[in-house]
Amino acid sequence: MTWSYATHYTCDGCSKVYELNVPINTCPDCGGLLETHYDLDTMKQELSPRQFAGRTTSMWRWHEFYPLRDEAHMVSLGEGGTPLIPSVYAGKKLGLSRLYFKNDALMPTGSFKDRGFSLAISFAKELGLTRGLTYSSGNAGASFAAYSRRAGFEPTVLVEYLANPLKKAIISLYGAKTATLYFDSMTEITDMLEQAVKRLGLYQFVNFINPVRHEAMKAYAYEISETLGWKAPDVMVHPIGTGGGIWGAWKGFCELAQLGWIDAVPRMVGVQPEATGPIVRAFNQGLKQAERHGDATKTIAQSIAADAPIQGGERVLRAIYDSRGFAEAVPDEAIMQAMQWLGCEGICAEPASAASLAALKQAVERGLVRSDETVVCVITGSGLKQPYAIEKSVPDSPLQLHASYEELEKLLGKVWQ
Ligand SMILES: [Zn+2]
Repeated sequence: MTWSYATHYTCDGCSKVYELNVPINTCPDCGGLLETHYDLDTMKQELSPRQFAGRTTSMWRWHEFYPLRDEAHMVSLGEGGTPLIPSVYAGKKLGLSRLYFKNDALMPTGSFKDRGFSLAISFAKELGLTRGLTYSSGNAGASFAAYSRRAGFEPTVLVEYLANPLKKAIISLYGAKTATLYFDSMTEITDMLEQAVKRLGLYQFVNFINPVRHEAMKAYAYEISETLGWKAPDVMVHPIGTGGGIWGAWKGFCELAQLGWIDAVPRMVGVQPEATGPIVRAFNQGLKQAERHGDATKTIAQSIAADAPIQGGERVLRAIYDSRGFAEAVPDEAIMQAMQWLGCEGICAEPASAASLAALKQAVERGLVRSDETVVCVITGSGLKQPYAIEKSVPDSPLQLHASYEELEKLLGKVWQ
């Protein structure tokens, strides 16, 4: 049985073709991003959705759709296969009858980044690499560190100065060497890493500059479509930092449509905080490339506070345009309200994840989503990793009592009135 149907890379910029078994990040000729291709014609003949039933529930259930050649190199903590939870609270508030949350806060290190790093580290192991470096606002670094150590790699993580101390400590807990990274704009980080590729030949793990990480995000499409009875949702709402999640999910839905496993693809909705939102700005202006915009220090949505997308965010914008989707920018107040709403669903989300629900609320108010449409909001990361934001989003209760029946009766008289 074929373990992987991946065939080659092509460059987004010059269309040149590259083999998968060489440790390259971007096109050695023009610096363009590399995209992985698959033999979809053969997949269509040899695979059917029924074959996947009974396999592992992790994202490796779909291994034919990834570029890893040998199962022996797989580094897994059981990532993926997270529940698609029907809404019991926000859906009613918004008048949506079919709202779901894809809860990736339940992943091994508490965020959706585990999908990408399980694949990227497995693939790096297959390429024979032994050490790696990435930068992170917190979640990616923790995930990168955890998978690297399991693979026997030496991980080094440059942690953005905006990351909260808990997130940095978690990265160290997973055994990475860390350094605090200061910068004025994300473009400085991208330039630094692109030069490191050119001068040191340093293999990168940053989304898109690493050519396979986002391939794992395609599993959103497979998992959600399978759960919905091999039907795609009408709308998928995804927060955007670098945009690997939304691009990967879109690629996955397109593959399923090409295979004939689903008959329609969703509208992809990208979400960013109002304080930055370069992709939203570019979308509103009808542009194919986004430029640096905003101030990343001015939002609580740390994980998506990127003020400049990788290589102009071309892929992210393409996913939004090609799917006839849209982009929404949300203020912190709306994010905090969405965190409370998600709490009433039983979901503890970090601000960046709650941003997806905040954006959906705005979209419903603007008439961009109909009440009978199937909508999936992706919860990308756990609120437990940003506890200060939770404290900020909910008022502290002034009520107190000493442990006696009389005081309890008095208290219940107040809270149950
Ligand atoms: Zn090229």
